[in-house]
This record gives sequence, C-alpha cells and structure tokens, in this order.
Amino acid sequence: MSTPSANLDQIRARIAAACERAGRDPADVHLLVVSKTRTPDEIRAVTACGQTLLAENRVQEARDKIPLLNDPALAWHLIGPLQRNKVKTALELFRMIHTVDSLELAEEISKRNDRPQPFPVLMQINVGREPQKSGVLPEEAIPLAQAIARLPGLALQGVMTIPPFSPRAEESRIWFRALADLRERIAREAFPGVQMRELSMGMSHDYEIAVEEGATLVRIGSAVFEPS
Ligand SMILES: *Cc1c(COP(=O)(O)O)cnc(C)c1O
Repeated sequence: MSTPSANLDQIRARIAAACERAGRDPADVHLLVVSKTRTPDEIRAVTACGQTLLAENRVQEARDKIPLLNDPALAWHLIGPLQRNKVKTALELFRMIHTVDSLELAEEISKRNDRPQPFPVLMQINVGREPQKSGVLPEEAIPLAQAIARLPGLALQGVMTIPPFSPRAEESRIWFRALADLRERIAREAFPGVQMRELSMGMSHDYEIAVEEGATLVRIGSAVFEPS
C-alpha cells in the first residue's frame, strides 16, 4: 500500500533514522511537502495527516490553489523562482521565500513588505555552478548577505540549494556539505539581523543524506504523492 499517509510515515521514520545516525534532534528537521502540480484533493489527503508545512514553486499556481484549500493552519513556502512583479502576491501567500538570488529581488521584498515583522527569506545558492540553475554562485553569497542585511523589511534566515542531479543520493553529499559550509561562513560574518538557522536542502531521492549533513528544511514531493 502506498498512500500519502503511509508515505509520510515512512519519510518521517527515515528522517528520524538519519537524525539518529548524525546525532541530531529530529525536532530540528522540518518536512516541507512540495505540493506543486498536485490537486487540492491530493493535498488534502496530506494535510488530513496533520502535515501543515507545504511548498509551491510557482506564484500563479499557488495563488489559484491556496484559496481552494482555505485552511489558516497551513504554512506555505515559496521554493521556485520569483519575478519582481509577483513579490507583492508572494508576500501575501507565503511564510518564507527560499529563492532570493539577487539584490534587486531582496530590495523589492523590502519595499513591498508592509507588515511590522521582517519577512523571512533564504538565499538560493547554485553550489554546482550549473548555468541553467537559479541561485547565486558561492563566491557571491557573502556580499549578497551583507547587502540584504542592510535592508529593512526582510530577514535572511538561511540558505537553500538544488544541487546537480545524480540518481545516486550519496553524490549529493558534497553539495550539501558545500551549502552547510557557506551557511557557516555567512553566520561567522555576524551581519546585523542575519540569523542563519535554516539549511533548505534534500528532495525525494536524497533527503536522508541532506539530513545527515544538517538540513533543517527538506523539500519532498514525489516520495509523498507517488507510489514507492
Ligand atoms: C519539485 C521540487 C522539489 C521536490 O522534488 P521531489 O523530487 O518531487 O521531491 C524540491 N525542491 C524544489 C525547488 C522543487 O522545485
């Protein structure tokens, strides 16, 4: 049997086992269920199991879908590219944006956030230097963090990556280590208002390795919704 509920149980057990191997507290790892392309009914099967953290990669799709679910208990994260003209909508829909990869985008978030609390963002880093991927290059991360730290209205809380794909999960490890290392380096700069608590890394095929390497947010879609 492979229902979302059985899949979720299995994923949680595997996250707990990876924490055990790494000597980590499972409370420090949050599962984000990636609901992109899934219907409201499919998503309800997951939220009915108590899952409240969800992630979408497109603002337009999220804007259509989130009102249909109409559940204030749900917290949505944006994990796909964000265009500046969609920032205002994104700030209304999401609790966190994982994909800040330019000063222009950070400035737009800063300008559009009209709430008293700074909006939580992560910086997306292209650890594998792949030309087709979003994210800043590793050497651009510290200067961008410094520039973001000067802006009001948003709070840099960590880093995110989508590493080069390999079907062998173990091959993601070096990229996860590279991201964890960058988080440390940014944290050591102690820029005002920057608390580098989050490491957003790990997807269906490699989340256990990501957890071993310190992930605090794993982004899992197909392993939740599809037969295992
Ligand atoms: C789709 C997506 C995921 C989830 O991928 P799966 O392999 O289905 O778990 C994670 N992160 C991002 C940025 C995605 O776009």
